[in-house]
Amino acid sequence: PTSVSFIGLGAMGHHMAKHLVGSFDTVMVYNRNFDKATAHAAEFGTQAVSLEQAVSADVIFSCLPTSQVVDDLIEQALPHLNAGSVWVDCTSGVPENAKASQAKLNAAGCEFLDAPVSGQTSGADSGTLTVMVGGSAKALAYAKSAIDCFAGLIVHVGDSGAGFAVKAVNNTLFAINAWAAVEGLSVLKAHGVNPSDALACINKASGQSFATLVTLPDRIVNQTYPKTFTIDLMAKDCGIAIDLQTEKQVPTPVMAQVASLVRAASNQYEPGSADFSEFAKFYQLMSGIILK
Ligand code: NDP
Repeated sequence: PTSVSFIGLGAMGHHMAKHLVGSFDTVMVYNRNFDKATAHAAEFGTQAVSLEQAVSADVIFSCLPTSQVVDDLIEQALPHLNAGSVWVDCTSGVPENAKASQAKLNAAGCEFLDAPVSGQTSGADSGTLTVMVGGSAKALAYAKSAIDCFAGLIVHVGDSGAGFAVKAVNNTLFAINAWAAVEGLSVLKAHGVNPSDALACINKASGQSFATLVTLPDRIVNQTYPKTFTIDLMAKDCGIAIDLQTEKQVPTPVMAQVASLVRAASNQYEPGSADFSEFAKFYQLMSGIILK
């Protein structure tokens, strides 16, 4: 590929798109609020373009809140796509929608990869994201040099939808670990143990997780709750995982319960207004214990 584009310069896309600069002749960006695109161009040397121009690229990236938003943009994009191009959707999306998008793009002579990412905004900034890819191996081979620009690890996990499925389960595991860790530290605090002392032990012991290593110390116990991954997006991801278990009738009582708790916590906030870590404030209402 010689031209690439990035659609959706949000908390993740803003960083992911900047890593494409220098590796391709043309690096285009598009954002709904177009000021973000012009600011990106000024800061990183990308080209701010219309949606129609963006989707004329050889490799088209998108990183948007939901599959619904991606579907709407694909509908608008279809008349402007060039045959042979690959649309790489880095949204944390819905597997069924990936299959439908793949069918639509195939009919236009193009390919669709579901390629959600993990690694938080810090991983996007450093270009070390883990990318879980569903779709055809041929399309991945074509787009790989572009994905590599912001990836630390790329794994082809299966056909269309498989990437989105892995991402939904991953995030549900993260939510389970984070929720359980907040419960555990609250019990310890009730027994007079300082949460940071408890984390120092747990993080060198078998109870550790990404949540205890990063989320609790850096966001919850220090009471900062920086807004980088909003709780409504996490509730969406857990909901996708629950739909997957329902579809195949796999009992997942722990995932289902935590998904429901995260939804309850998310409902306390306006969409887009609170970081995922603010679930701990909701739990605090249940426990009456402040972790700090
Ligand atoms: P943000 O809310 O920061 O950014 C969303 C982007 O989508 C913005 O560019 C926004 O444009 C655009 N957008 C929203 N609605 C529409 C619409 N109707 N039409 C066109 N564009 C629209 O989200 P994130 O970057 O945090 O997340 C993006 C995806 O990545 C989500 O699926 C999320 O679950 C996933 N993700 C997020 C991580 C994180 O740590 N934040 C980590 C890993 C995955 P505008 O500027 O105009 O509002």
